[in-house]
Amino acid sequence: MKIVENKVALVTGASRGIGRAIALRLAQEGADVAFTYLSSVEKGEALTKELEAFGVKAKGYRSDASDFQAADQLVTDVVADFGKLDVLINNAGVTKDGLLMRMSEEQWDTVIRINLKSVFNLTKAATKSMIRAKSGSIINITSVVGISGNAGQSNYAASKAGIIGFTKSIALELGSRNIRSNAVAPGFIETEMTGAVESKAVEEWKQSIPMKRGGQPEEVADACVFLASDLSRYITGQVIQVDGGMLT
Ligand code: NAP
Repeated sequence: MKIVENKVALVTGASRGIGRAIALRLAQEGADVAFTYLSSVEKGEALTKELEAFGVKAKGYRSDASDFQAADQLVTDVVADFGKLDVLINNAGVTKDGLLMRMSEEQWDTVIRINLKSVFNLTKAATKSMIRAKSGSIINITSVVGISGNAGQSNYAASKAGIIGFTKSIALELGSRNIRSNAVAPGFIETEMTGAVESKAVEEWKQSIPMKRGGQPEEVADACVFLASDLSRYITGQVIQVDGGMLT
């Protein structure tokens, strides 16, 4: 038995990296998958076919997660197309790094809007249908940086710490409706986002990780599929670190 069979999941930012791995893993485990992308149109469109190869229903939507109205419309469209929404994975995120002294207002606002406001937008829209169904699992992708902080990433760390507070609050608000809300905190995962970091810094990071390597997007996806499934049915309000022991 596949662990998320008969569930409908929505993954934001699935054209690349971790979101793409989550969408594929969910499909492999039997879920019907709706997903979004924004600028990577070709990659987004190609993913639909890859997901369908697992024998599930799949559809991509070009939608900006940071836009409140667009998020509401997206969830309406997904429920119309798929009939329901069981699992929401808020994955879309960006970095705009810089030390505070050099950080512009635009760098701050962009990261808070795309990383944190998007989670509010999608969760608010999705919980309307989850409350009616008396069931749902919300999974928010935060970061170990949201727990520890990181020099040069005050905007990103604030957005990811905000996600943790939001995740726990929604767990408290909606637990009685059988809606679970958890966060996954990846450490250093090898994607385009971290590909921009210079190789000497990457090697130093890897040496500081107890498991002595970066993580793969599929390793984050595995934790997400567990939280999406009924195997985690009594787990809510938690932050699961997928970081090779980076932050203990
Ligand atoms: P990535 O390779 O840069 O991919 C980011 C994804 O987010 C892309 O699919 C992108 O879509 C999408 N996206 C960006 N802005 C969007 C918006 N406004 N609306 C909808 N989609 C949007 O990043 P990643 O490494 O996979 O990271 C995924 C998540 O994991 C992020 O939340 C990130 O903060 C978190 N994370 C990553 C790491 C890591 O080491 N990589 C560690 C901790 C946490 P388009 O390309 O189509 O625009």
